[in-house]
Amino acid sequence: MKKSTIKNESVIYDLVGIGIGPFNLGLAALSQPIKELNCLFIDQNESFNWHPGLLLANTTLQVPFMADLVTFADPQSPYSFINYLHAHNRLYKFYFYENFFILREEYNHYCQWVAQQLDNLKFNTRVTDIKQIHTDSDGKIYQIFIKNITNQTVSEIYSRHIALGTGTSPHIPARLSNIKHPNVLHSANFLEYETKLRNLQSVCVIGSGQSAGEIVLELLKQQDQHPRQLTWLTRANGFFPMEYSKLGLEHFSPDYMTNFYQLDGATKRSLIEKQDLMYKGISKQTIADIFDELYRQSIGNKPQALNLLANTNLDEIVVNNNSSTQQINLHTNNLLTKNRQQFMCDAVILATGYAMQSTQLLSSLNQDLMLNDTKAYALNADFSLQSKTLNRNKIFMQNNSLNSHGVGSPDLGLGCHRNIIILNSILGYEYYTTQKNTVFQNFNFNTQKGHECVNYTTFH
Ligand SMILES: Cc1cc2nc3c(=O)[nH]c(=O)nc-3n(C[C@H](O)[C@H](O)[C@H](O)COP(=O)(O)OP(=O)(O)OC[C@H]3O[C@@H](n4cnc5c(N)ncnc54)[C@H](O)[C@@H]3O)c2cc1C
Repeated sequence: MKKSTIKNESVIYDLVGIGIGPFNLGLAALSQPIKELNCLFIDQNESFNWHPGLLLANTTLQVPFMADLVTFADPQSPYSFINYLHAHNRLYKFYFYENFFILREEYNHYCQWVAQQLDNLKFNTRVTDIKQIHTDSDGKIYQIFIKNITNQTVSEIYSRHIALGTGTSPHIPARLSNIKHPNVLHSANFLEYETKLRNLQSVCVIGSGQSAGEIVLELLKQQDQHPRQLTWLTRANGFFPMEYSKLGLEHFSPDYMTNFYQLDGATKRSLIEKQDLMYKGISKQTIADIFDELYRQSIGNKPQALNLLANTNLDEIVVNNNSSTQQINLHTNNLLTKNRQQFMCDAVILATGYAMQSTQLLSSLNQDLMLNDTKAYALNADFSLQSKTLNRNKIFMQNNSLNSHGVGSPDLGLGCHRNIIILNSILGYEYYTTQKNTVFQNFNFNTQKGHECVNYTTFH
């Protein structure tokens, strides 16, 4: 694209990415070889580090390694996971490892390796506001306010397009969010506190997603060295596995995403409500590992260290500030029997999930942005925000598109697909090819019909 500046001689970027998680890092890697694009990606952290509080030893990605930053867009990219292995002389080791599911620690190291090679990333910088300004040459462009975290200086940069990839942040239900106690923590911070937890007598984990399962397994494995009373409670009606059958996985495909987008808002919402276990449960492997550890620890009928309670809501956490130890009292409610109980513990780990980062950054642009029937920002098929006025310059949403594009939105396996669409949309032609007919099922809800009957009369 043409190199242009505005009156104060500042460069106008073609694309500025806000946040450098896996999705915008993939976008940065895929935009790097496109000579006509001048891009910059910004993150408030010092460097790339993927969910560091949960990088537990031996935990793996929930998607195969091909869901790396670039392969689905360009298998020949120098930033592929296979090339990372090659560069680190680990190809044969990975070949004999014979496992599609790489360790989270290795995925993080791979992403850091990619980040080190890109020259379009700027860390230690927080985006504080976005405004729109009018230019003669480029129409309305975005004025992005950035703050240097070290010296707190604020400056502005300009871009035609934005990719908002600010990801998620730890979520704590409102009724529990005002508890101030050093031993009440969110699962996202688990590793920071892990050593301290070893010295405590009783720990309670809340939630029944993958993070809860992994933390319970980790604590269980420490039982021999650090015996504790463990409690695992969830309001869900069981500790259930995430859907992981081959035909179920087809819902995380470009085809499903494209067809889901065409549905009306109410149909989308009712579908998403029924799809919880496609992306929120615990992996079968983690459940099996927990069970097997419990079995091992039960040899000789030793007392069981882990108390598993499903259908149990944590109503309240009460901290006894009068006691020297600041005892934690959990008030629970059995959702089947309505039986209320209280019990003490030394630490609580809230594995209560993540919420999309607030869209506060867009507030200065609100009057120009369209809302959907639930008063959320309306998205176009290319993941750009719908605008009330004609504007060829766009804001693309990474990840924050569950309600418009379906369950695949937060999935690492569809990051490349979204990035292909974003880059092609900016360029106005197909630079990267999207994969078509990716599944065996017919997800084209408008044309679904049974197979034509084959005449088998000649068979006997
Ligand atoms: C522990 C964990 C494991 C997961 N494992 C898998 C998995 O195996 N498979 C899978 O498909 N999905 C997985 N997910 C879900 C999803 O893939 C991840 O959450 C992924 O990190 C999302 O990437 P992202 O790019 O949207 O944002 P994030 O990784 O959340 O990164 C967002 C970045 O934006 C930065 N930022 C935010 N606001 C600003 C600002 N104002 N200015 C500058 N920077 C800002 C943050 O510092 C952060 O670095 C997992 C999620 C978690 C929490």
